[in-house]
Amino acid sequence: VRVRIPKSPEQLNKDEILRKKFYIKLTTAVLSYLTKSLVNRGFEWYLPVILSKSTDPLWPDPGASIEKRVEFEIYESKVRTTLSMIVHKVIACSLYSDRLFIISPNLRIERRERAQTGWHAYEFNQLDFEMKDATSKDVMKLVEEVLEGLISHIENNFSLNSYDGTIYKDIAPPFKVYDREELISKFGTKWEEIFPSRITEPVWIVNIPREFYDFQNFENGKWDNFDLYVPKYGEILSGARREWEYNKILTKMKRDGVKKENYNVLLELARKGKIRQSSGAGLGIERLVAWLTNAWHVCEVQPFPRVPGLVYEL
Ligand code: ASP
Ligand code: MG
Repeated sequence: VRVRIPKSPEQLNKDEILRKKFYIKLTTAVLSYLTKSLVNRGFEWYLPVILSKSTDPLWPDPGASIEKRVEFEIYESKVRTTLSMIVHKVIACSLYSDRLFIISPNLRIERRERAQTGWHAYEFNQLDFEMKDATSKDVMKLVEEVLEGLISHIENNFSLNSYDGTIYKDIAPPFKVYDREELISKFGTKWEEIFPSRITEPVWIVNIPREFYDFQNFENGKWDNFDLYVPKYGEILSGARREWEYNKILTKMKRDGVKKENYNVLLELARKGKIRQSSGAGLGIERLVAWLTNAWHVCEVQPFPRVPGLVYEL
C-alpha cells in the first residue's frame, strides 16, 4: 500500500489547513492532559537535551532502521543528537528524582523507505518517563490509567465532529498481554506488520529482545519489557524495567557490540552501585495523536512534517 505523503505548509489548501489546525488543537489538549496527570502524580518535569556523548544505542532493536547516525564535533568533543534520553532518565532517577518525565525530541534518521509505513518520522517527540523502585507492571498500570483518563477527557472537552478523525473510544483496561514468542509462532517473524490489523483494542506485547538497558533474566533469557500496540497502526509506547547491575550491563554491551566508551558515566555509577532500580517508558506523542484521529500518516499530525527521505524547507 502506498500512503499519502504529508505536505509542507505552503502546499496545503484551505481544507488541509483546517485539518492541520485540528491536529494542533488536539495535540495541545493531549500534552496538557498528560503533563498535568504526571505532575499531579509527583513526577518532576525535565527539559530535554539534544547533544550528548551518550545516547540510546538503538541497537540491537528489531524495530530500528537508521539510515544515518548524526554525530559531529563541538569543542573538540564528539556528540550525538538524541536518539532517546534513556541514559539520562536512568541517571536522573538514580541521582535526582524519584519520578520524572521529559517531552523529548528524538532524531532518528529512518531509512527513506519508511515514509511508506505511515508510522515513522525522522524527528518525533516522546513523553519519556521513569519511576524509581517501580516494576514493569506499575508502569503498565499507570499508562492504562492515564490513557483511559485522556480519552474520556478529550471526549468530554473536545469537539471532534467537524472532521472525520474520530477518537477511538472503546478502551477498557487492563489491556491483554501477549508474549512476543507467542506472536511469532502465530504470525511468523513478520508479526509486527500483521498483528496491528488483528486487534480491536490496545494490547501489550512483552519479552522483546533489544538494547542493554532493558532488564533481561539471564537464567531463562526472558526480557522484562513491554510495548503498547494500537489497532491498525502498531507501537505507540515502549518501556521496561531497567538493568542496574554493572556486570550485566557490561556483559550485554560486549555481547551486542555496543561501544562501552560511549557510556562511561552510566558504567561508572553502576560500578559504584549508584544506579537505582527503576522502570519507565516513552510514549510517542505524534503516534498517539495519529491513532486518536485515524490520521493516514503520523507526519500528518506534525505542523512541519518530518517524513523519512523528504526534507522540506521548514
Ligand atoms: N523511551 C524508551 C524507554 O523508556 C526507549 C526508546 O525510546 O526506545 O524504554
Ligand atoms: Mg526503543
